[in-house]
Amino acid sequence: MTANGPSAEIREIVSLSSRILGGADQGDFIWGHGSARDPDGRGVWIKESGIGLAEVSADRVHLVSPEGEVLEGSDGPRHIEFPIHTEIMAARPDVGGVVHTHSPHAIALAAAGVDLLPVSHAATHFVPPQVPRFTETGNLIRTRELGASLAASLGASNAVFLVNHGIVTVGPDLQTATVSALLLETAAQQQLLTTGFGGATSWSDDEEALAKREIIYSAKALGTVWDYLVRRLG
Ligand SMILES: [Zn+2]
Repeated sequence: MTANGPSAEIREIVSLSSRILGGADQGDFIWGHGSARDPDGRGVWIKESGIGLAEVSADRVHLVSPEGEVLEGSDGPRHIEFPIHTEIMAARPDVGGVVHTHSPHAIALAAAGVDLLPVSHAATHFVPPQVPRFTETGNLIRTRELGASLAASLGASNAVFLVNHGIVTVGPDLQTATVSALLLETAAQQQLLTTGFGGATSWSDDEEALAKREIIYSAKALGTVWDYLVRRLG
């Protein structure tokens, strides 16, 4: 299967997103995946399993239905956690992109049970409200039921912690969800650094966080960040 044809553009976006996430050290060896909603409503475009995020080319991407059937694209193995993507898309018509990674600092923060604090700009992309936490299982999301349950935990938010497992970020498109995944990891890392200096003594309150979100993380700005990240791939 080549990357030509009507699906070429969407497969290229999944490839770019994967390589950006891999380059940002969100790849946990061969684990983690991002998806884009199929414009014809057939499911999600997602990388095949068995390869790392950093090595995903457009021809290693395929279309997976909500039932887990590979409908088009790469004939490589399908990720077992596809229901994360298909069930969130089903529950959230506004979502066009979903990222799931094992983002290390975000996992640590969620496992510590502490709130995400806006100690820098990054957390204001999410807080307020607090990032919800999915605690039904720390194991893989392997069934449609667990996917739907995760989607319920996510609610209307743009991110959810899968406690003792990883993160999910969502956006109107995969580009936004990808930048959000990077921001969530940055936010957790900066909070940890703050702890090393004795802990946060100040952070943005809700009013300031919302104001910062509007000006710093507008849809236009997030698109510009994506363009920069793509250029940086070289
Ligand atoms: Zn996972």
